Amino acid sequence: MSAVRSIDTVGFAMVVEAGCVLETAKQAAEAQDCLLPITFGSQGSCRIVGNVSTNAGGFNVLRYGMTRDLVLGLEVVLPDGRIWNGLRTLRKDNRGYDLKQLFIGAEGTLGIVTAAALKLFPKPTQVETAMVGLRSVEDAMAFYARARRSCSDLLSAFEIILRPGLELALSAHPELSDPLESPCPVYILMELAAVGRVDLRALLEACLEDVGELLLDGTIATSRAQTNRLWFCREAMVEAQSRGGAYYRTDVSVPIHAIPAFLEETLASLAVSLPVGRPVAYGHVGDGNIHLNVVPPADWSMDQRKALFGKAEQLIFAMVDRFGGSISAEHGIGRSKKRAFLERADPVTLDLFRRIKTALDPDLILSRGRIFDV
Ligand SMILES: Cc1cc2nc3c(=O)[nH]c(=O)nc-3n(C[C@H](O)[C@H](O)[C@H](O)COP(=O)(O)OP(=O)(O)OC[C@H]3O[C@@H](n4cnc5c(N)ncnc54)[C@H](O)[C@@H]3O)c2cc1C
Repeated sequence: MSAVRSIDTVGFAMVVEAGCVLETAKQAAEAQDCLLPITFGSQGSCRIVGNVSTNAGGFNVLRYGMTRDLVLGLEVVLPDGRIWNGLRTLRKDNRGYDLKQLFIGAEGTLGIVTAAALKLFPKPTQVETAMVGLRSVEDAMAFYARARRSCSDLLSAFEIILRPGLELALSAHPELSDPLESPCPVYILMELAAVGRVDLRALLEACLEDVGELLLDGTIATSRAQTNRLWFCREAMVEAQSRGGAYYRTDVSVPIHAIPAFLEETLASLAVSLPVGRPVAYGHVGDGNIHLNVVPPADWSMDQRKALFGKAEQLIFAMVDRFGGSISAEHGIGRSKKRAFLERADPVTLDLFRRIKTALDPDLILSRGRIFDV
């Protein structure tokens, strides 16, 4: 159940069994000079079926889309035991309903996915990574809008980190040094990738020159080791948050243009209502996806933490609602966000969810209790 069944290097597609670890699938594609773009921290352990069932995102969504955009076909065992064979690599197939979409992001509630056909891309022959420092989130978003144009839309990652998150990473990892010469309020970690005869370094340098007035400082990685160090700042920050015990994490999205106001107002509100919690904000900002977390003092009990988590959730989700966002950008609903999801779900949406669930799984045998109750 974990084999790579086939790789089509002309049609840029692969067929993988559900239990294949994402990293294994990526390596198999790379060995054929292709790219499977799903990329994130747990790729060494998560499986293709988990990516499909949660419609996983990650660092490269900006360029290649979510897992949903990369699935060409699925093979699924239905709750009544029949096999639905939708394992095709067709790019165009408009024969009625696109049934595979039902199973993507369904968290296992509608069928057991056994294999997936996925889109591939040419493996980039050039990758350039830069980290820049800016005065504000507003400047970061102005930079984003200009960078997409001036980099020929070759941006493959555009991650934001606010200074408190970087400081957390630096304090947890003494071997890590400040990536830029002087501290900046906001950082962007960006990556460009290309294949073919493009002078990617020149493109990146010209882009940074064009937006010079927005940037306080910046560096372009000149070696693999420096690239890894820049990305390690991002990973170390994620890991550093859990060093002092359980913390409150979100995975929210708002319209991209609303990110500066959303962050400014939510952080100001957290400072007033929960001054003891340490807010840490970062995310896939080119996708409007922010992880706005709150880290409690290390000596707090679990009861104190739970009380803080409840207040933080109320405050942050209310802001997400106000800005027309989503309380789950990438990670799904599962059981932990079910109550918050149901409080906000519109009745027509819920009615359709229930009809689809009972049509496919009338005896409610799959993933009971996830997302919603019938
Ligand atoms: C360090 C770290 C970083 C991460 N970064 C990101 C990120 O940037 N973006 C992002 O989107 N996610 C991220 N994630 C979460 C990520 O989505 C998951 O790790 C991964 O996609 C889920 O795969 P899994 O194999 O772990 O699945 P599981 O967590 O084991 O399962 C996921 C879902 O799949 C369902 N399922 C399991 N088997 C089947 C089956 N056969 N058929 C149908 N449904 C099934 C389960 O019921 C569950 O609902 C991160 C996680 C970690 C730990």
